[in-house]
Amino acid sequence: MSILYIVATPIGNLNDISLRALDILKTVDFIACEDTRHTQLLLTHYGITTPVFSYHEHNEQKSTDKIIKLLQENKSIALVSDAGTPLISDPGYLLVKKIHACAIKICPIPGACAAITALSASGLPSDRFIFEGFLPAKSIARQNRLGELKTETRTLIFYEAPHRIEEMVEDLNLIFGNDRDVTLCRELTKTFETLYKSTLKKLSEWLSLSPDNKKGEFVVVVAGLPEDQKEELNHLKAQDLVKKLIIDLPLKKSVQISAELFQVSKNTLYQWALTLKR
Ligand code: SAM
Repeated sequence: MSILYIVATPIGNLNDISLRALDILKTVDFIACEDTRHTQLLLTHYGITTPVFSYHEHNEQKSTDKIIKLLQENKSIALVSDAGTPLISDPGYLLVKKIHACAIKICPIPGACAAITALSASGLPSDRFIFEGFLPAKSIARQNRLGELKTETRTLIFYEAPHRIEEMVEDLNLIFGNDRDVTLCRELTKTFETLYKSTLKKLSEWLSLSPDNKKGEFVVVVAGLPEDQKEELNHLKAQDLVKKLIIDLPLKKSVQISAELFQVSKNTLYQWALTLKR
């Protein structure tokens, strides 16, 4: 029976691969991978000789059609990315979506993922979190995105490239404030693995201490906004809106709209608005 396997591979240390993943990579008809030379290093390490072909963001459409055709001819295929779990800031979504529509069997083979590896060691709340992947490369777009995330109370996980890590952390300071807790996870599972837990301000200073601190691959895990601060922020936003609305609307209506929009106590906002009116 044809099956598409989604196989997680190591994010650095070649030993971080499951026995089941190795079994699948040995026995499938083909392996679809991002960079064939990169994946070949892993396959050679484990003596795997399965034929490979490329599946990456630039040939995604064409390769998707090729994979579906092979699966319809009863071939089995493993999809891997350069590192970690395919589809997580990596290609594969188009393929998996189409495979669902074709009613072909999909089988995920779990393993390493930089985001989850970082979160597990971050020392930041791990019960509720959001994965944001890479922020926009341009500063204005990045700051806008961070502005939307400023009041997020869950732990936030970001990926970042070495040439942008410093400016990204600067923007985090600018938008989230200097005191927010953060854990920088660098080169996970590799020789120069570093976990640096501090505030955003101290992280900026640490990054500028040495060029070595900016080398390698990074996951930035940022604490969410504490619930009490979120409430405070929402009160300020609601008060701002009341100030604007009372120009054209009755006080009661202005308070009602603002309190509903920012989910703050109508009563408290009303008492504040009365002092404003006075
Ligand atoms: N699919 C991968 C996964 O499951 O984590 C992520 C692929 S994404 C193209 C590559 C990014 O993941 C890197 O730029 C870095 O932010 C993060 N990353 C991958 N390996 C890492 C490692 N060993 N240490 C820290 N971050 C890593």
